[in-house]
Amino acid sequence: MAEKLAILGGERAVPEGAVKKWPPIDDVDRKMVLASLEGAEHAFGPNCKAFQEEFAAWNGSRFGITTNSGTAALHMCVAACGCGAGDEVIVPAYTWSSSATCVLHHNAIPVFVDIDWETMNIDPDGIEAAVTEQTRAILVVHLHGLAVNMEKVLAVARRHGLKVIEDACQAHGATFGGRKVGTFGDCAAFSFNQNKCLCSGEGGMFVTDDEAVHAAAQKLWSFGETRSPSQERDYHAYALGWMYRNNDLTAAFARAELTKMDGYLARQKQNAARLTECLAGVPGLILPTEPPGHGHNWYNYTIRFDMQALGHVAGAAAFRDKIVKAMQAEGVETSLWQRFILPAMTVFQARNAYGKGCPWQCRHARPVEYRPQDYPVAQRHADWHTGMTTPLRAPNGPEVAGLTARGIRKVMENLDQVEQLE
Ligand SMILES: *Cc1c(COP(=O)(O)O)cnc(C)c1O
Repeated sequence: MAEKLAILGGERAVPEGAVKKWPPIDDVDRKMVLASLEGAEHAFGPNCKAFQEEFAAWNGSRFGITTNSGTAALHMCVAACGCGAGDEVIVPAYTWSSSATCVLHHNAIPVFVDIDWETMNIDPDGIEAAVTEQTRAILVVHLHGLAVNMEKVLAVARRHGLKVIEDACQAHGATFGGRKVGTFGDCAAFSFNQNKCLCSGEGGMFVTDDEAVHAAAQKLWSFGETRSPSQERDYHAYALGWMYRNNDLTAAFARAELTKMDGYLARQKQNAARLTECLAGVPGLILPTEPPGHGHNWYNYTIRFDMQALGHVAGAAAFRDKIVKAMQAEGVETSLWQRFILPAMTVFQARNAYGKGCPWQCRHARPVEYRPQDYPVAQRHADWHTGMTTPLRAPNGPEVAGLTARGIRKVMENLDQVEQLE
């Protein structure tokens, strides 16, 4: 029997208040944050130093530099890999905007590669065709917490002498071949923004195993100075620098969360498994996969609607938006995190980064095209998907995943009602 959808006045599948907010706050957080507050160093303080050491150790990286955002850490990666005026950096066509704008920050030029439908990550087999004389680095994004096939990426990088940057902002604890991401490339960036798997409000981390890369990143991080924060400063700008340092209160919060992260990640895995179990076989739904050798952290459980099977290839995004609205009305916490492919974004179409055509018209640059039609897989993904984060996060357990699946299933089984929505 057809159930009436909540958007049309029926009963919600997920009761109000069932999904708890992220992150759970306990006495570990309170104690550490208050101790920092009572301390005397509120800028780059003892918690910052401890946090970068603890996080690097947790990830298996030699060096860590705590930053005020993941984007700051990405910019440090670009600079530390020697990318500058006119150099090209290969990036995926579908990701968060700053995975590509961090390249512009250093006067270098993003070159897009389409994604692989199955993994939603950069298509490693498409990278080589994008390499030119000007290419300096490949920036891969372990999107949604699923690692890119690093074996393939590193092979291309070796063949062409390229640096490899990992955007691990969503991928804390994700693995490839049993090894944590952020340890494959020359350097990597993590984010600790509100919704990430480690939340300290805002914040990020640069990691590397390479001493020279570490030194170069540190210079950009703090006013172009070269001395470490524990040494006496000479207040001299040796190079172009930004102010990307973290502060002690945020680092204290982050340290407290780090003590709990492994438990949270385990919970996320359980919740994702429950979702997959409950959603298996729902017609019209394409579920995310975890290919052999990849350890997903399930930062984002991203589903695609099979618009071919549903008869909505034309106007797919508009129909998807209706499905998502109907699911939200059921109490399913799903939303579109990124509805645009990057090459179609105004900053690339209008080339308005630094103004006056820079960096694309820099005399060191080679002409680069941004034709959205060159990225059909990314576009199809952008139009057909929706994602979920909160229902998978602690303190929510498998029962919330079950309720969420019930809401999704209800909408998918009553698409005739969705067709009627304005
Ligand atoms: C969140 C995120 C970033 C940026 O991190 P911020 O801390 O918000 O600057 C970069 N790349 C990806 C893939 C992200 O998800």
